[in-house]
Amino acid sequence: MNILAISDVHAKENQGLYDYLENNNVDLVIVSGDITNFGPPEFAEDFLNKISDWGSMTVAIPGNCDTKEVFEKINKSKAICAHNNVIEYGNLIIYGFGGSNPTPFDTPFEFDDDVIYDNLKKLFNSKKAIKIEKEKKESVGKVDILLTHAPPYDSKVDIIESGIHVGSEAVRKIIDEYQPSISLCGHVHESVALDMIGNTTIVNPGMLENGCGCLIQLDENNNAIIDMIEM
Ligand SMILES: [Zn+2]
Repeated sequence: MNILAISDVHAKENQGLYDYLENNNVDLVIVSGDITNFGPPEFAEDFLNKISDWGSMTVAIPGNCDTKEVFEKINKSKAICAHNNVIEYGNLIIYGFGGSNPTPFDTPFEFDDDVIYDNLKKLFNSKKAIKIEKEKKESVGKVDILLTHAPPYDSKVDIIESGIHVGSEAVRKIIDEYQPSISLCGHVHESVALDMIGNTTIVNPGMLENGCGCLIQLDENNNAIIDMIEM
């Protein structure tokens, strides 16, 4: 299974993405938020539909710069909205929570860290998640992905220009406690990187506008090969 992770679109498309989808076999596209720049809402629906029309399943969450109207359009689009949701796809289980921990900019989709933590914990402990985890463990094995816009605090993927870590302590705590296989995030544009926390690979693919993305290839034994790519 080939998964393409992108983030921080900010209402700016990149032709490289469409060329990539045209020329490569991508089963799943995951968009980890900030699809727009405080709107327009229509962009989110059009963009996600355009990706889905290439034949890839698309999973998306809103970022802190996406408004309530954008969130509604994600839900209306052909993509699956993973905000506060558990999604099953093939061997994957995706635990999603959009928005970010509070920023100094008072953006539209922010949550206190304790709200992010409580909601993610509920998802990991939900009946749906436990049932899927059990079924997959018994048959094909499973790969779990934590999908958030906010990066985990104190990692290589949450450092702003001044050198300060601005990630979410809730996301960090969830990774420490549940050790998902992969943690996909975005939010901090200048902190494009791969990192590890325990057994979890952390990915901040960077802004789509710059042609940044991450390709995750899963073989039949669920081994993941993770590469930052330029589109
Ligand atoms: Zn952004």
